[in-house]
Amino acid sequence: MNDMTPKSSAPVVDLRSDTVTQPTPAMRAAMLAAPLGDDVFGDDPSVNALQARIADITGKEAALFMPTGTQSNLCALMSHCQRGDEYIVGQLAHTYRYEAGGAAVLGSIQPQPLTQGASGEMQLADIAAAIKPDDIHFARTRLLCLENTWNGHPMTLAYLAQATALARERGLATHLDGARFFNAAVATPEAGASAHAAARHIASYFDSVSVCFSKGLGAPVGSALCGSRDLISRALRWRKMLGGGMRQSGMLAAAASHALDHHVERLAQDHALAQRLAAGLAGIDGLSVRSAQTNIVFVDVADGRGPALLAHLALHGVLATGLIGLRFVTHLNVDEAGIDHALACTHEFFETQAGAVSPATAAGSAVY
Ligand SMILES: *Cc1c(COP(=O)(O)O)cnc(C)c1O
Repeated sequence: MNDMTPKSSAPVVDLRSDTVTQPTPAMRAAMLAAPLGDDVFGDDPSVNALQARIADITGKEAALFMPTGTQSNLCALMSHCQRGDEYIVGQLAHTYRYEAGGAAVLGSIQPQPLTQGASGEMQLADIAAAIKPDDIHFARTRLLCLENTWNGHPMTLAYLAQATALARERGLATHLDGARFFNAAVATPEAGASAHAAARHIASYFDSVSVCFSKGLGAPVGSALCGSRDLISRALRWRKMLGGGMRQSGMLAAAASHALDHHVERLAQDHALAQRLAAGLAGIDGLSVRSAQTNIVFVDVADGRGPALLAHLALHGVLATGLIGLRFVTHLNVDEAGIDHALACTHEFFETQAGAVSPATAAGSAVY
């Protein structure tokens, strides 16, 4: 047998994304036990309970359960903006760059993307300058959209306060793409004593917040849009139009509720694992850690060896993404042993002559 082929029974350390988590046995039990109705009729008790819960946590009047964060953000944009309006958004923000242009295609909303700094912030002066005057030549600037965390970076409360205050002064609504909202809450201790208190504090700056349950929180599916009753009633119609009216979705909502009960405070463990990984990688020649915030570690690999490193790691059951810059994401299905295995494999790659796996080193390495 060839030791270079990962054994199919070997545990995989999957650091591609925090979306890859499997529901825990307790989460699956909660899903099975969930009382169900038909959510398009509005009578699924598990969906209604989740919506009330997340609205309460974010301090909003109402919330709407969605299949994906993409749909939740799109419903938000379409509920804030009319055809011919525009929204201000980061050049590298998910809603602008990674959601297939939905705001423009389906919402007839013009994006006004702005350059972001290394931590994702748009300069306040740039935001101010991008807001168009009331003139028939221009689209109506209606909304400022921020993302927190952005590439793992939590934004400071001072920035959130200033950017949203500027938007409000100029008559703009504000939306937060909070796919990793609770990672931000856990990583912003000055926002509140508990993660839930911090979450409410961060949400308080925004008219609407979209939260993903399917990332670090570990649910299989789902996001929620939180906002005023009025906004959510408009979003309900858009969600139906976009094909997101689900039926016995209480099974999915129960997983999300379970995650809110059990998987929020524990995000701190994912952040600690990311720090462990970053600290171990920082000592390796040929690599530099570009950023390691919350649960995401970005690494630059010298001499174009990123793809070879990725392939070497994959051979040993460690999965990551990227090319020149690699991305490692921690989550609830990763532990210290997995991180240490990833570090050992990375060391091994850089210690072997050409970075290729020699049969001797492969045979000598444990397959985790
Ligand atoms: C993952 C993600 C979303 C939503 O993605 P879906 O796969 O549609 O759930 C939105 N914004 C950010 C920043 C994300 O990381």
